Amino acid sequence: MARYTGPACKLCRREGKKLFLKGDRCYSSKCAIERRSYAPGQHGQNRKKTSEYGLQLRAKQSARRYYGVAEGQFHKYFLMAERKEGVTGTNLLQICESRLDNIVYTAGFASSRNQARQLVNHAHFTVNGAKVDIPSYLVKPGDVVAVKETSKTTDEFKNLVESNSARPVPKWVESNKDAMTAKIIALPEREEIATPVEEHLIVEFYSR
Ligand code: SF4
Repeated sequence: MARYTGPACKLCRREGKKLFLKGDRCYSSKCAIERRSYAPGQHGQNRKKTSEYGLQLRAKQSARRYYGVAEGQFHKYFLMAERKEGVTGTNLLQICESRLDNIVYTAGFASSRNQARQLVNHAHFTVNGAKVDIPSYLVKPGDVVAVKETSKTTDEFKNLVESNSARPVPKWVESNKDAMTAKIIALPEREEIATPVEEHLIVEFYSR
């Protein structure tokens, strides 16, 4: 399925929540959800009560859009999560959190996950010293993600690190802004994952 290239804010309005897809704007009063918190379209303000299936679908779509993952890949993540020990919903979110583009954003090297995906695609990052340009690459505890040596000295990265320095980094990622490296300490516990979604609804969606 082709990647969605339309207005990002429309996705947040469709899901009725902030998905933080546009960097700094998401934290400002310009955020579309702050100004128009109803769904887009002619009948956006008249939407009726959502069915159980509708709630499950919306939860799945919210998580998918939050992480910028295509439908097929998200389903694969669900199957991987089911095979792992533990709670399937938490496993699913941990897999999404382990994506390289998510780590780049979480560590403060990009303003949004979309931007992180582009930077990874353009081969600006290494994992344990080896170049990785696949945004969906899944990192493991102990891995070290770093900005490539030749990219570290560019104004683009200096500005990115500077402008994202105020965003808190969760404890499971040890981000060194000076060295432009991020070490994965452990997979995040559920309470360390900020994804605005009830993951049990996603499990119910795929278990139908
Ligand atoms: Fe747009 Fe960001 Fe607000 Fe979503 S959270 S509506 S992407 S500004």
